[in-house]
Amino acid sequence: MVKIKDITQYLEQFAPLHYQESYDNSGLLTGDEDWQVKGVLLSLDCTEQVVEEAIETDSKLIISHHPIWFRSLKKLTGKSYVERTIIKAIKNDVAIYAIHTNLDNVKPGVNEKLAHKLGLKDLEILAPRSSNLMKLVTFCPKENTRQVLNTLHNAGAGAIGNYHDCAFIIEGKGTFRPNELADPYIGQANKLEKVTEERVEVIFPEHLQQRILESLLKAHPYEEVAYYFQELANIHQDVGSGMTGILKTSLSQKKFLQHLRNCLSTPCIKHSELSDKPVNKIGICGGAGSFLINHAIRSSCDAFVTSDLKYHDFFDANGKILLADVGHYESEVSTKDLLSDIITKKFPKFAVRLSKIDTNPIRYF
Ligand SMILES: [Zn+2]
Repeated sequence: MVKIKDITQYLEQFAPLHYQESYDNSGLLTGDEDWQVKGVLLSLDCTEQVVEEAIETDSKLIISHHPIWFRSLKKLTGKSYVERTIIKAIKNDVAIYAIHTNLDNVKPGVNEKLAHKLGLKDLEILAPRSSNLMKLVTFCPKENTRQVLNTLHNAGAGAIGNYHDCAFIIEGKGTFRPNELADPYIGQANKLEKVTEERVEVIFPEHLQQRILESLLKAHPYEEVAYYFQELANIHQDVGSGMTGILKTSLSQKKFLQHLRNCLSTPCIKHSELSDKPVNKIGICGGAGSFLINHAIRSSCDAFVTSDLKYHDFFDANGKILLADVGHYESEVSTKDLLSDIITKKFPKFAVRLSKIDTNPIRYF
C-alpha cells in the first residue's frame, strides 16, 4: 500500500503542476491525497467505464491524462457523462488524478514518448518556454559555500539540461557591523567586520523559489543572509510545447505517412497536399497542436504530426511543410505506457494497470 500523495508528488517531480496551461485542471480531482491505495489504473480519459474498471480491479486511484472536467461545475445531478463519472468515483471512494498539459510541456513527457514511437532522434522542444527561470545570488563565508551549494542543489537549483550541480562562484570581501542585539556567526557587536566571502549564483525554475529560499536560510550560517532573486528571460530548453526530431533515414512524403500509420496503428490520416520534398526533420505535438504549425515551419521541419487540425489549418502548410493529422487519441494513447514506466521505476511492487477501455470517442467509417 502507498499513499496517493507518494505517487502524485513523485510524478510532479517530472511534470510540475506549475507547467500546466492556464485553461487546464491537472492535479487531484477527487479523493484524498492521504488515502492508502493498492493499485493505480492508467487511462487517457476518465469515463464512467474507466471508473467501473477501477472498482473491479481494486484500483482506488485513476491517473488519466485528460482531466474529467476543466471548468467549475455548478451542478452534480448526473445529467452529463462528466457528472456521472464524478458521482460514481466519489460514491466508490475512487480518487482521480489528471496529469495533462504539465506532462505535455516537459521533455520526458507525452511528446518524447510519441517521438520514440516514431523512431525520432536528436529531440528538442519545438517551442521552449521563456520566463520560467530564476537566478539566486547569495554570499557565503568561503568555508560554508560547499555545504550551502549542496543544499541548494538538493532543492533543485543548478540543473541545466544534462548537467547538474551547476553554479558560478567568485571570491570577494563582505563587510558588516552587528549591533548589540545581533548574534553574529562571525564578528562582535559594534565592530566593523571584513570577511572573505564567495558570491554564489545558481539558476532554478521559478516554481521552486520558496523551496530554494527555505533551503538557503536553513543551510547558510549567517543570522541575516544576504541574497537576491533575479527573473531571467532565458528560454527553458526542457519545458515547452511540441518537439522536433530527426528520422533515421529520409523518407518520401508518402512513405512517411505509411510509417505514421504503422507506428500509430491509425486507420486514417488527414494530410496536406503532397510534394516531392523528402521528409527528415519532424515536428510533433501529441493532442491538438495547430498552434504550433508556424513554429514547425520556422524550425525548418519537413513535416508536422499532430491532431485536431481544422480545414483552414491545412492551408497554412502553404507548400512549406507536410501536415499530418493522425488523430487525438492515436497521438496520445502511449501516455499510459509513459506513466507506467515512470511509476514502476520508483514503485516496482505497486500494482500498475493500463486501462483496457478504448476511450476514443471518434469512430472511422
Ligand atoms: Zn489530449
